[in-house]
Amino acid sequence: MATIFERWQGVLSRVQTAVIMAHRPTDSVTLLAVSKTFPSEAIAELYHCGQRAFGENYVQELTEKSAALSHLAELEWHFIGPLQSNKTRAVAEHAAWAHSVDRLKIAERLSAQRPNHLPPLQICLQVNVSGEASKSGVAPEQLAELAQTVRGLPRLQLRGLMCIPEPTDNVELLASQFRLLAQLQHQLADNGLLLDTLSMGMSADLETAIAEGATIVRVGTALFGARTTSNSHEGPR
Ligand SMILES: *Cc1c(COP(=O)(O)O)cnc(C)c1O
Repeated sequence: MATIFERWQGVLSRVQTAVIMAHRPTDSVTLLAVSKTFPSEAIAELYHCGQRAFGENYVQELTEKSAALSHLAELEWHFIGPLQSNKTRAVAEHAAWAHSVDRLKIAERLSAQRPNHLPPLQICLQVNVSGEASKSGVAPEQLAELAQTVRGLPRLQLRGLMCIPEPTDNVELLASQFRLLAQLQHQLADNGLLLDTLSMGMSADLETAIAEGATIVRVGTALFGARTTSNSHEGPR
């Protein structure tokens, strides 16, 4: 079985190939290592390979792992999971980024709870690009208003947009969902709101996401291996 270093090199080379195929600058995509359900030891191992940005989905795991790994000075935590208003404080205190902000109340709490000694919390607004009623994310029609309001909050820095597309084997349908996120970024820019980040693409579809403009790809399985029921909060998938 491949070592974590080999898997990390493999993912980095997938990213580089996709960037070259898309005729984009070589440093235009950042790899976020999604470590949810995996232990602090696995994160430390990948950190020592050279990886710096790690993504967590569950507030409790973020709290525990950020305490356990506080000696890794350059480790940067990204919160990417569903955010409930009673759980915002830990994210405001431990994360450098929150990718899953989809309503004003959450943004206001993160802003109020962000400690003054830390730099502003970097924010992506999660957009529901598939239109599925069950999905989290702000509706595309409501994005501009939310973005303008969030931009005015202190202690936050609005950086970009994030999406989790509807899973599908249809590559064109998948690409169209990523493309919608890029189009929304352009529409905001046309109205004077410049954002530099598109957080989209995971283990199975990072090439398609990079072709459509992703600047952060969130990769778990391809780095750490499959999440099993014994290490997962979300059950089999
Ligand atoms: C789990 C997760 C990922 C990583 O998915 P993989 O398929 O394991 O690469 C990315 N983004 C979010 C929001 C996730 O919950």
